[in-house]
Amino acid sequence: MREIIKFRVEISKEEATHRPQWEREVLQILEPLGFIAIERWPNPRVLTFQFDHYPAQLDEVWQHLQARGFYGSVWERREYTPTELLDAAFLRLGTEAVVSSVDGTLRWDWVTICPHCGFAEERWDWQHLQISDLPTGPHLAAVDWHPLVVSAPLAEALQQADVTGLSLIPVGPERPAGWYALQPTHLLPPLLVPPTRMRRLPTATPHCARDHHWESPTSELYYRQDGFAAADVNASYEVFGDGGRATGRIVIISNRVYRLLLAMGVTQLVGCEPIRVVASA
Ligand SMILES: [Zn+2]
Repeated sequence: MREIIKFRVEISKEEATHRPQWEREVLQILEPLGFIAIERWPNPRVLTFQFDHYPAQLDEVWQHLQARGFYGSVWERREYTPTELLDAAFLRLGTEAVVSSVDGTLRWDWVTICPHCGFAEERWDWQHLQISDLPTGPHLAAVDWHPLVVSAPLAEALQQADVTGLSLIPVGPERPAGWYALQPTHLLPPLLVPPTRMRRLPTATPHCARDHHWESPTSELYYRQDGFAAADVNASYEVFGDGGRATGRIVIISNRVYRLLLAMGVTQLVGCEPIRVVASA
C-alpha cells in the first residue's frame, strides 16, 4: 500500500499583505512533520505539503495553524497493488462509475435514526427511480453519486453465487428491471477508533449512539477481530455525514464478491481497499 497525504495551507489575501513572512512561519511549523514535497503552484497564497504517511501530529499542527489565521484542508489517497486487493478477506467497495437519474425521479424519505438529535438517513424510493442509461453488460454504479445500483446481468450473477447479506431491489416500475438497488442487509459492528482515523462531529449530543455524527474516515477501516462476523455484503454501523444532508454507510464486501466483480468485467472499481481486522490492543 502506498499512501499519499496532501496538506494544503492557505492564507487570506489581506493576511498575506500584513505578514510577508507567512511562508517561513508555515515551513517552520511543518518542518518537524517530515514532508516529502512542497507545491507552490498555481496560487501563491497556498502551500501544499505532501507526505508518504499521515503524520501523527498533523491534527495538532493543524489547530496551531488555524489559531494563527491559516486555513486549508487535508486530502488523502491510498494505492494498492492488484495482489494486495486480491488477497484481502474483506474490502471497502468503491466505484467511480456514475449513472444519471431522469430529472426528479431520484426521491427519498428521511428516516430519523436518533430521537436525541433527529439525525436522519435516506430511504430511497426505488419504485419511482428511472435511470437514463440503459445497461448493456455487468455494471456497478452510483446513481447521481449517491445510492449504488447494479445492472440486471450483474444482479443475476450475484444471485446465482448465493451472495449473503444482500437484497437486490428492482429499480423503476418496469419488469424485468434493467437495474437493481444494491442494498446490504447485514450491519457490521462499530469501527475500531483508533486506529481508524475519524473524527466525531461536534453536533453529536451526549445521548447520541455512536452510529452517527462522524466525519468520513481518513484512514483504512479497522475492525476488532473479536465478534467480527461479516456476510458477503455489509454496511458499516456508522452513517457518515451530517444527517439531513448527504449521508451514507460504507459498503464492505467479501473477497468472493470482489473477485466476482472482477471476473464479470466490472470496471471503475476505484476506492476499493482492504479492511483491517485486528486483535484489539
Ligand atoms: Zn443523535
